[in-house]
Amino acid sequence: MHKHTTAQVVVVGGGPVGMLVAAELGHHGVSTVVLEANPETVDQPKAGTLHARTVQGLARRGHLRAPQGSDAALARPSADAFHFAGMPGLVITAPGTEPSPIVGRSQADLERDFEHRARARGVTVLRGHRVTELAPGPDTVEVTAEGPDGVRQFTAEYVIGTDGARSTVREQLGFAAETHAATVSALLGVVRLADPYRVPSGWNRTPRGWTIAGVNPYGHSRFFTIDFRGPHPDRHSPLTLAELRAEAERILGHPVPMTDPVFFSRFNDFARVVSDYRKGRVLLAGDSAHVHFPVGGQGLNLGLQDALNLTWKLALTIKGTAGKDLLDTYDTERRPVARRVVDNTRAQLALMRPDPGLDPLRELFTGLLGVSAANDHLANMISAQDTAYPPRTSDGSSWEGQFLPNLPLTTDEGPTDVIRLLQPGRPVLLLLGADQEAHRKQAEGWSHVLRTVRAGSSRQLPWDAVLIRPDGYLAWASDGGPLAGTLREWFGEP
Ligand SMILES: Cc1cc2nc3c(=O)[nH]c(=O)nc-3n(C[C@H](O)[C@H](O)[C@H](O)COP(=O)(O)OP(=O)(O)OC[C@H]3O[C@@H](n4cnc5c(N)ncnc54)[C@H](O)[C@@H]3O)c2cc1C
Repeated sequence: MHKHTTAQVVVVGGGPVGMLVAAELGHHGVSTVVLEANPETVDQPKAGTLHARTVQGLARRGHLRAPQGSDAALARPSADAFHFAGMPGLVITAPGTEPSPIVGRSQADLERDFEHRARARGVTVLRGHRVTELAPGPDTVEVTAEGPDGVRQFTAEYVIGTDGARSTVREQLGFAAETHAATVSALLGVVRLADPYRVPSGWNRTPRGWTIAGVNPYGHSRFFTIDFRGPHPDRHSPLTLAELRAEAERILGHPVPMTDPVFFSRFNDFARVVSDYRKGRVLLAGDSAHVHFPVGGQGLNLGLQDALNLTWKLALTIKGTAGKDLLDTYDTERRPVARRVVDNTRAQLALMRPDPGLDPLRELFTGLLGVSAANDHLANMISAQDTAYPPRTSDGSSWEGQFLPNLPLTTDEGPTDVIRLLQPGRPVLLLLGADQEAHRKQAEGWSHVLRTVRAGSSRQLPWDAVLIRPDGYLAWASDGGPLAGTLREWFGEP
């Protein structure tokens, strides 16, 4: 007989996004099982950059260290150099009260960190288990997986498909999607460059394509090529050293001797965003929901922010303390963000085309990167700091749906800030100023969900009370409609 396990949530796919989902659900006390096909984390040279909004979200949930000390109020914005469409000069800044806007951490290390946290919080992580079938019912979903000891069955109230671009969950449930066909062919090799000083370091455009090289004269280098003549006819055909060498020579116009490959990958700019992130009790997050060309290093960031948006809503729904339709806001909030990322990657690729006719346009864009308003617009887009969610109330404050930057605060217990207030993962009603009795009284009926904090701030703020969601976005501000209406909408009846 097959072994049968029940859990409130089964997470299919324990990559970095699935493991963060699991760590967060574990934190909220939701019984969770992760089914991951790989027996252990695979170190592949993929994402290595956490962008500002991901950094800020992870810091609020205690996954990254926040800046120390109450002098954060005096700190100046931090800045990091990046690129747009391979053009240097994009400066990504974050408020001085936030951690650095760019944090370098490989996706394999993130996956290990989140897995460690998930296990420590009581999540069952079953590696070597590949999900083959899902059968959704009205109250539960049946999941079948093949593991080292044979076939196993799981029953869950909800399933989250974080099983990557070729998602079994997406395919099995027949999620519809908007797609854009591939137009380019990209190769990646981690190789030894025999003549490293002849290979241009970084992003390099020629009339025949691009090379992107992280040159290491003493060891292995990461070497990418992009061919704009069209996608490879067989995306899954294995890449060879001879093909990578020939492509490098074609683009650079001279031989590029290379040896000793340790990793090869072939990819393209096929893009997909599913048309709904939820089908009943099954939800998608990360690459299973959206894929695009990896220019700007945004894919994993998008998925980690999906996880931070979804998990507290799902935990409240499972505990019966969510307002009607709260879980549906996961799709309405996150899907437009993914569509914008797909659009910006397509725009970047269009600007990267090797056609010399585009040279004046690239020069124009390079000039714009030097104009601070234009630079900020693009930097906030790539770092997702321009993310804001649609308001849920018609008479709401213009702050509803905006991300609240970290603020130094003083409370009776001493100095604190927004990042620290959000560590427990509960919504926070932050009351600033003296006359707050009315707001405090309205929130009394929801004390099982939120935490009310009275604090002082030395800043001039446009409101004197806000309701902060666990992911750092504002659900309500005191310059909008009545608090009780918002609380009922988000967390149900008191
Ligand atoms: C060359 C390259 C460079 C990139 N660089 C960046 C970057 O700099 N920054 C950035 O943000 N993003 C980058 N990305 C994108 C990033 O790698 C992905 O967005 C990220 O891996 C998505 O994480 P995920 O957890 O959603 O999916 P995945 O990492 O694909 O994880 C899915 C997991 O599900 C498991 N799985 C699959 N099917 C099943 C099944 N049926 N049953 C059980 N388990 C299953 C897999 O084994 C895997 O562990 C890059 C991508 C590429 C290709």
